[in-house]
Amino acid sequence: MTTIDHIEINHYRLPLEPPFHASWDPRPRTHFTATLVRLRAGDYEGVGSGDAMLGFAGQEHLFLGQDPFAIERHVRILDNLQFHYGRMWPLEAALWDLMGQISGQPVWKLLGGLRHKVKPYASTGERIGADERAETAVHLRDMGFEAIKLRFHAEDPRHDLAIVRAVREAVGHQMQIMVDANQGWQMGWDSRPTWDFKTALWMADALAELDVFWLEEPLQRHDYRGLAQLRGRAKLRIAGGEGNREYSELEEYLRHGSLDVYQPDVMWSTGIWRGRQLAQQVQRAGAIYSPHTWGDGLVLLANLHVTAAVSDAPYLEFPYDPPHWLPERRDFILPAPILPTADGFLTLTDQPGWGIAIDWLALEPYRLK
Ligand SMILES: [Mg+2]
Repeated sequence: MTTIDHIEINHYRLPLEPPFHASWDPRPRTHFTATLVRLRAGDYEGVGSGDAMLGFAGQEHLFLGQDPFAIERHVRILDNLQFHYGRMWPLEAALWDLMGQISGQPVWKLLGGLRHKVKPYASTGERIGADERAETAVHLRDMGFEAIKLRFHAEDPRHDLAIVRAVREAVGHQMQIMVDANQGWQMGWDSRPTWDFKTALWMADALAELDVFWLEEPLQRHDYRGLAQLRGRAKLRIAGGEGNREYSELEEYLRHGSLDVYQPDVMWSTGIWRGRQLAQQVQRAGAIYSPHTWGDGLVLLANLHVTAAVSDAPYLEFPYDPPHWLPERRDFILPAPILPTADGFLTLTDQPGWGIAIDWLALEPYRLK
């Protein structure tokens, strides 16, 4: 049996010049960081990325000498650790890559093999005004994107609504528009109240008039009942759950019927094995499983593999907001940026694991020592 004989965690930091002005944070982003977990078993290597693995140091013995394929056992241990420390799913990602390398199969096949390509929606995130946003949307439409997501950020939601209206007028009905209200979670500094039910319902009605495909996180992430009531009254889809960290929280959404679209990120929320399990439950309930992917390129890739493996989702998030959020920045840890293929899909290959080989030498200048 091939057992895990090496665990290594490194952190990387890409300077952003010019900086990125994220809609969810008024402070300009001058750096983009990524954490890579590297596992080895004999001649095979697997990689994963995502959160910084805070608290993992000293726990390596729980995995060394273990069979990489004992995934249910590993997921239970990682879940135990994330109760005590930070999120540990990058290590699970590395395990899946390792299993893929050993078995010679891509992860999307190991997880279900439903399809090898998914249509992307361009997920924007920069804090810009209505005219500029409408211009970007037209540019993305002309590039072939069938759908775009707009992120809200204004103190007064009427200003954000004006941006959606400007985009709809600019792109006509040739493009689906998703809207992320970003009321589900808050940054560390943010003590302001999130939207109340009336604001959320008013916005849902206004966005339905503009033929918006889904409204994402219109209420706080634990307001299962409020979301279910909103979903019952709204004339458009309600999406959410990208960052709920406990699996039972996602089951609460299902129990209450809170969401049309379930978005837990496999690296930020469920892990991969449990993300797959949730996708099955969600689809049995007649809802859509289309995870959040906003992170580094390997986070996007992990979510893409899980989605392709089990989900019928019409679109998957593709973080892309030219000119300041480009695949070259997002995917700086990958050997080449992930781009849609000529047919407009994000397409996976039959290469084992994630289907990529990290260029460790090229990454070395970005490694934090
Ligand atoms: Mg979101």
